[in-house]
Amino acid sequence: MTRAYNFSAGPATLPEAVLRQAQAELLEWNGVGASIVEISHRSAEFIEVAAQAESDLRTLLAIPDDYAVMFLAGGATTQQALLALNFAAPGQIADYIVSGHWGQTAIKQVRHYVTANVAASSEAGGFTDLPAREHWRLSEGAAYVHITANETIHGVEFRNTPDTGEVPLFADFSSSIASEPVDVSRYGLIYAGAQKNLGPVGVSVVIVRRDLLQREGQPRADIFDYRSHVARDSMLNTPPTWNWYLAGLVFKWMLAEGGVEEFARRNAAKSALVYQAIDDSGGFYRNEVAAAARSRMNIPFFLADDTLTARFVSQSREAGLLALKGHKAVGGIRASLYNAMPVAGAQALVDFMRDFQQRHG
Ligand SMILES: *Cc1c(COP(=O)(O)O)cnc(C)c1O
Repeated sequence: MTRAYNFSAGPATLPEAVLRQAQAELLEWNGVGASIVEISHRSAEFIEVAAQAESDLRTLLAIPDDYAVMFLAGGATTQQALLALNFAAPGQIADYIVSGHWGQTAIKQVRHYVTANVAASSEAGGFTDLPAREHWRLSEGAAYVHITANETIHGVEFRNTPDTGEVPLFADFSSSIASEPVDVSRYGLIYAGAQKNLGPVGVSVVIVRRDLLQREGQPRADIFDYRSHVARDSMLNTPPTWNWYLAGLVFKWMLAEGGVEEFARRNAAKSALVYQAIDDSGGFYRNEVAAAARSRMNIPFFLADDTLTARFVSQSREAGLLALKGHKAVGGIRASLYNAMPVAGAQALVDFMRDFQQRHG
């Protein structure tokens, strides 16, 4: 068996050690005589797994006690809709900072519930930079300000937490959560689908300042009510138990590897290798994102001769480098370098890029 280096944007590569442990435990888990996927979410055994995962995530991200943590079925897109239902009055203004594709989808999900104000957008520049903070036009009395911490498709990342004063900052951290230390107390709410940096698709993590849960929000079904989920420890209905368990293994792995400080070092090293290879290529490769906003997690780049792109993708696949084809919205190549991608994987990509250029440059 050979596991290739997998640069998929999501669902994405997972730590091999975690997959091996899950494999070893799949038929029979922890002496219960059944698989973890076959036992009740209300069993003492699973409740322990769930609580341990939350506790490990709190340690990993240094989440303060006045923040609740939820593990919810559904993706980041689901949370995007629930933000408005839970935290904004009908028709109230919510401010959105749009720095790429996922900022746009976030707005699409709330159109029926709030007045989504585009307080700033970098669309005119093709999403190659963050909208400068001094040009944001924030609304008086907005329910929240929404940002996308890392734009997975456009490769644009906030490198500093913007100040939004009294209005709580809500952030989509789907593709960069746990990639470096973050001061959670600067945010009203952080959410992330698991399938980029935390585990398998099917579960999302939501971290919310508890006082915000007192907001009335909008008429909504109980199952869409964050308060109900918090009150029932995310077990209002059957949670995605397998995903929760597997994310828990990933949290343990991250802690054992040295925590988010260590992943910050590795992610800086990996992304520096790839950006260096692009910038040193004399224009053969090109990344268009402003240097200060370049993502450490997702690096979209282009070949000067676009007719070589398909060959780059097929030859890299043959060389054991998977899923480098760019998103259809931007084309070109995209390398995703999440926590589970080792530095050796980024090095293998850079070696391939240099070799490819030598053969086709
Ligand atoms: C992948 C992604 C999403 C969408 O996640 P789903 O689980 O497919 O809903 C949203 N935001 C960001 C930043 C993403 O990377």
